[in-house]
Amino acid sequence: MPAGLIERYRDRLSLEPGDPVVTLNEGSTPLIPSPALSERVGAEVLLKFEGANPTGSFKDRGMTVAVSRAKGRGAEAVICASTGNTAASCAAYAARAGLRGAVIVPEGKIAIGKLAQALMHGARVVALRGNFDDALRIVRELSQKHPIELVNSVNPHRIEGQKTAAFEVVEELGEAPDALAIPVGNAGNVTAYWRGFQELGTAPILYGFQAEGAAPLVSGQPVAHPETIASAIRIGNPARWEEAMAAFTASRGRVAAVSDEQIIDAYQWLASCVGVFCEPASAASVAGLLAHGLPTVDHAPPPQRVVCVLTGHGLKDPDTAFAKAPSVINCENDLADVERAVFD
Ligand SMILES: *Cc1c(COP(=O)(O)O)cnc(C)c1O
Repeated sequence: MPAGLIERYRDRLSLEPGDPVVTLNEGSTPLIPSPALSERVGAEVLLKFEGANPTGSFKDRGMTVAVSRAKGRGAEAVICASTGNTAASCAAYAARAGLRGAVIVPEGKIAIGKLAQALMHGARVVALRGNFDDALRIVRELSQKHPIELVNSVNPHRIEGQKTAAFEVVEELGEAPDALAIPVGNAGNVTAYWRGFQELGTAPILYGFQAEGAAPLVSGQPVAHPETIASAIRIGNPARWEEAMAAFTASRGRVAAVSDEQIIDAYQWLASCVGVFCEPASAASVAGLLAHGLPTVDHAPPPQRVVCVLTGHGLKDPDTAFAKAPSVINCENDLADVERAVFD
């Protein structure tokens, strides 16, 4: 039986002894070698496919711990602001725990699969006429005013749960990779990986990638109106700003931007040439490696083995897939017609 994260790592997590375990057997996601990507990057690249989590993104790692702790504290409801995946995960774990869930999403700006999940799991879904940063500000205030647990990555238990991805990578490789490439939105995940690696006494180079139209960490100032096709990282004022920047510096890595065009190219190439379908935001990590290579500081040797985090599943966002993929070929119920359709 595959165990969830809490069962695997409880002694290294932040739960209290009496807390219940609210789990969907998240984690233990595949680390997939990619010879084709390795060749293009000039180093061995492995893909940590977080789309294989129960709700289709890495958010489940943090949510199992945050919702278990919330339930242990006697909370009756959980709330989050979300670009989509946190909402889906929060709704699922709330359902599992028998808690009420509420999610605030930017109106019209979240992928349709994520919305379907949040609704199906029975959360109250509120579409805000504002962006993610506005939604986060509002849920922070609401959770101060009402007895409702905030489960965004400002919640420390989220980071605790998410650090287990670093544990898995090191366990599977037998050592830390030389570098880790990761998309950065609210900057919770990069903070969590760094904590996980540090707790194991390791320090791979961290390469973070933001979308050009939503790259506050690259420009050094908040972006008032973030824009990118990669909706999961459309964030202008990351909550974990300082911690993420400290991690990039300490790891001798850096954060850089990639264009939507580079993101979409990587997204399509991964699906059609590597066999891995991730969502656009996830492809930012691959786009970043392809666009920026493996820079090092102080004449350090270039990394030889790189883990690239693919944060969420491609099925989350069918609209973008249909907009970018070739179309279906219609044909008559006739052998010759089908033959032409298949072989021409
Ligand atoms: C949440 C999310 C991110 C960004 O993670 P942060 O912790 O906000 O930096 C990237 N990709 C996907 C698919 C996500 O759901």
